[in-house]
Amino acid sequence: MNLFSFSRFPQAAATIFVLLFAASAQQGSDKDNHGIVSADMDRSIKPGNNFYEYCNGAWLKRTQIPADRPAVGVFSALADISNKNTAALIEEIAKSNAAAGSGNRKIADLYNSYMDESGIESKGLTPLKPHLQAIAAIGDKKQLAQVLGEGLRADVDPLNNTNFHTDNIFGLWIAPDFNDSEHYTVYLLQGGLELPDREYYLSNSEHMRTLRTQYQAHISAMLKLAGLSDPDTRAKRVFELEHAIAEKHWNLDDDQDIHKANNPWKRSDFSAKAPGLDWEAYFAGAALSHQSNFIVWQPSAFIGESALVASESLESWKDLLSYHLIENYGGVLPKAFADERFAFFGKTLSGIPEQRPRWQRGVAVVNAVLGDEVGKIYAQRYFPPEAKERAQKMVANIVAAFHKRIDALTWMAPATKAEAQAKLDTLYVGIGYPETWHDYSGLEIKSNDIFGNLWREETFHYHQEISRIGKDVDRHEWSMTPQTVNAVNLPLQNALNFPAAILQPPFFDKDAPDAVNYGAIGSIIGHEVSHTFDSEGSTFDSKGALRNWWTPADLEHFQSATAKLAAQYDSYHPFPDLALRGKQTLGENIADLGGIAAAYDAYIGTLQGKSAPEQDGFSGSQQFFIAYGQAHKNKIREAALRRQVMTDEHSPSEYRTETVRNIDDWYKDFQVQPGETLYLSPDKRVRIW
Ligand SMILES: [Zn+2]
Repeated sequence: MNLFSFSRFPQAAATIFVLLFAASAQQGSDKDNHGIVSADMDRSIKPGNNFYEYCNGAWLKRTQIPADRPAVGVFSALADISNKNTAALIEEIAKSNAAAGSGNRKIADLYNSYMDESGIESKGLTPLKPHLQAIAAIGDKKQLAQVLGEGLRADVDPLNNTNFHTDNIFGLWIAPDFNDSEHYTVYLLQGGLELPDREYYLSNSEHMRTLRTQYQAHISAMLKLAGLSDPDTRAKRVFELEHAIAEKHWNLDDDQDIHKANNPWKRSDFSAKAPGLDWEAYFAGAALSHQSNFIVWQPSAFIGESALVASESLESWKDLLSYHLIENYGGVLPKAFADERFAFFGKTLSGIPEQRPRWQRGVAVVNAVLGDEVGKIYAQRYFPPEAKERAQKMVANIVAAFHKRIDALTWMAPATKAEAQAKLDTLYVGIGYPETWHDYSGLEIKSNDIFGNLWREETFHYHQEISRIGKDVDRHEWSMTPQTVNAVNLPLQNALNFPAAILQPPFFDKDAPDAVNYGAIGSIIGHEVSHTFDSEGSTFDSKGALRNWWTPADLEHFQSATAKLAAQYDSYHPFPDLALRGKQTLGENIADLGGIAAAYDAYIGTLQGKSAPEQDGFSGSQQFFIAYGQAHKNKIREAALRRQVMTDEHSPSEYRTETVRNIDDWYKDFQVQPGETLYLSPDKRVRIW
């Protein structure tokens, strides 16, 4: 479970979240300021009425969202710094004339191939053609099954980076086995949609109905650009097939329920349980004919989608394959494709007026394809040993605070406590960068072939992933690159990653007082530690195995406390016609609440009974909470916010901030009184950890 949602491939249509937080500089904030930023606050607002605006009101008023961004905030500012640093590295490497076959040469060639716009224009449809012809040549459903299998990619990740979306009919994830945590196995997930989620096809709201009409026009436009005949008829077929697939899909609430997902199927079970698709041909296409065990995340979706392969016409499936291919590679085809894609997925779907400059998209592609190759150099240059040391100390303090909180729980039985403590004891915390790096030596990158580079990378990555099936789990393996502004909890490894790029100001500032560092990065560290004990994390034991280690009474208490938290978030309405989904965001909301509570304890611990220096009249404890609120500073466009509410496991920033209303000390620090908007009577405040 990560701090924010990201996806792996920036060229893919449905991965606008890559852009969502990769936005522009923190406007107007003082670079020499090392504490809370008073100039960003609106002190005319009562903290008890709207703590988010109290912390960020002046900033929200004066900040404009740049035309090429869906949102702007602290995360985007840091992502900008990281992108700029990464771009500088790449440019330096591109000039260095690195030896053929070296990692640096791959970085340079990949970047140059993406930037070669005139080469891309002059090639026109040439790179696309053989692939479209292969789809056109599919003669029957058996061949279709083979081609669908060949399209399987390692492009989903339901637990670590929380990405449930693939436009291929199914997606693959290689991870430790739910039922044998020492070895990697194959998880298969539902797929087949180009829009972000089933809601976009099924919701009856006017907003969504309009979007669907625009989407069908967009499909037609893409098919026309690719030179296919009867684009309108084909677009209608594609849309109807996707709509039928959406009806079979699980929603995000169910997707996140580990117990519903743990369905071991043998290879032979597929034909018996989910008839329709020729599974033998499918697994042959996917190079998985010898694999006997799988875990099927959403069985009823597999049954439904497989039946659709039989019931829907071959034409519809071929049109869907053609359209998905064109959409996925639209970003590296002539400009007309990229512009049409952006017009729909950027402007219409996310409300972003302008496309980002090409060099920024190029950096994103290099990060997605050769992330560790860049990360090696990035970590060396931008992450000094002192930063690592200080972050390690904060982590140790926050984990210690968690230990104490668990000890102090009155409702929890000693046996449950012992396993919870064991989980903390065995937690692996990676800081800055991984201990081992991904190996790209088998990946061929050419300086004038961006289409081929991305095609080869997808296949290379897929084969690298499936080669791990059955091997021993490496619990120290990372799932993020050092230049990523994010953090992650890996429940099956019982591990955390804090990449170098998030460990910098304003989250983490070596010159800032402890109050501010603990309120900002401390709460983030606490958030990731808390995922160990959220609604998902708590279903895994200290070895990462899926096992119930709770006494029935403890589990009941936990579930009723978390249900209270879900209800609290259900009551928030960012729009009159759209409320937050307390269940969809529950794991993240538990992590936020547990995180801030543990970080606060750890901060108070650092004071050792002394009082902290004031800033602008604020006590240390007040600074802690304001720093927390300011770490969530974010301004977002309406379309992007709607999308986040519907498809993201994370609550919008404002509501993440308002969780302070569950913490007793916050009431004391800001004299919050009954009758104020955020006020909760003590019995209504949710306490979980
Ligand atoms: Zn999280």
